[in-house]
Amino acid sequence: MAGAPPSPPFLPYGRQAVDDDDVAAVAAVLRGDWLTTGPTVAAFEKAFAAKMGARFAVACSSGTAALHLAALALGLGPGDRVAVPTLTFLATANAARYVGAEVLFTDVAPDTGLMEPSHLRAALEGSSGEDVKAVFPVHLNGQCADPDAMAGLAAERRLKVVEDACHALGATYAAGAGGTVPVGACRHADMAVFSLHAVKTITMGEGGVITTNDPGLEERLKRFRNHGMVDRAFQNADLAFDGEGKPNPWYREMPELGYNYRASDIHCALGLGQLGKLDGFAAARHALAVRYDRVLAALAPTVRPVARTPGCSPVWHLYVVLIDFKAAGVPRATVMNRLRERGIGTQVHYLPVHLQPYYAKRYGEHSLPGAAAYYERCLSLPLFARMEETDVDRVADALAAALENP
Ligand SMILES: *Cc1c(COP(=O)(O)O)cnc(C)c1O
Repeated sequence: MAGAPPSPPFLPYGRQAVDDDDVAAVAAVLRGDWLTTGPTVAAFEKAFAAKMGARFAVACSSGTAALHLAALALGLGPGDRVAVPTLTFLATANAARYVGAEVLFTDVAPDTGLMEPSHLRAALEGSSGEDVKAVFPVHLNGQCADPDAMAGLAAERRLKVVEDACHALGATYAAGAGGTVPVGACRHADMAVFSLHAVKTITMGEGGVITTNDPGLEERLKRFRNHGMVDRAFQNADLAFDGEGKPNPWYREMPELGYNYRASDIHCALGLGQLGKLDGFAAARHALAVRYDRVLAALAPTVRPVARTPGCSPVWHLYVVLIDFKAAGVPRATVMNRLRERGIGTQVHYLPVHLQPYYAKRYGEHSLPGAAAYYERCLSLPLFARMEETDVDRVADALAAALENP
């Protein structure tokens, strides 16, 4: 008896690619002596810094922890404000609040979702500006908007720069005479922050990394990651040293409040193996995006991919289309539900953060029309390294069908 044809596998909007060699690397750590902070954390940090072209990389427990550590390392706190594009994941703004600083939400370009220097300038001009101490640009979807120009404006206004590069692992950009710069090299930022959450381009399960070229920041990041403890430069000589002025072997000191945001050798074993696969994953994502661009051209102008920023070679973390749902006459929720019925997962990245009740209560209403125009139209389609080109075609067909028949 013939049953219904087998339905094709569900396509989530993103998923990890973990192979037997990744499993073996984690298992090897589990059989060894170090489960917490051991040699694999150091090896991962060294490899990550080398890959990004930065002097230092500090691994920690999540991208959110990485953002918090960056805010701590800069000494941001009450009385300070941090400029953050409203079109981002919650954690970018929350990091400022964790240290007691306030958030200055900026607008973004309607067709890329990226904060450009003009948006930062407008936000600074619309506020007193004096207390704004840092800017956290977000490389949304895996592309960036002129980090060189952003750094120039930041220097002019004496702002520290922390790039939220959680989407942009492996991306590069052109910097005038500076040639091609990898995101994370911190050529135009004090620090760059990455997430290795399972949905990101490479994963360590849960995990984050901060890159920097500043040894002082590296020292502070490592200190705040580990309870704020130090093993030198002691302040309390009576407790720290014995009668002969030698440090007591047990003695550790906590000059400032820190956290346990450490990454483990277990997680870093996975991260190290995945790092070696980054170029391959990036190439696979690129090929899939090219295919999407081609097959979705038939749905223009109702459906368009996000605009490409000049000078950036992205690694797409998300494949986002902007859909004129009004012109199509089908609401976004209906389109998402119809796609789900056909085994296709989609998501909206992101609701502008200033609309979240917590921030709306704190800062009131904003007029950020670029973010509103992006949010109204955006939809993230499935994109992950192990997708097939035939999956892309299936998504495009299903999207065409979902947009028919109001
Ligand atoms: C994923 C992500 C984060 C947070 O990373 P976690 O590892 O999930 O804590 C922060 N910012 C952006 C833009 C992200 O995509």
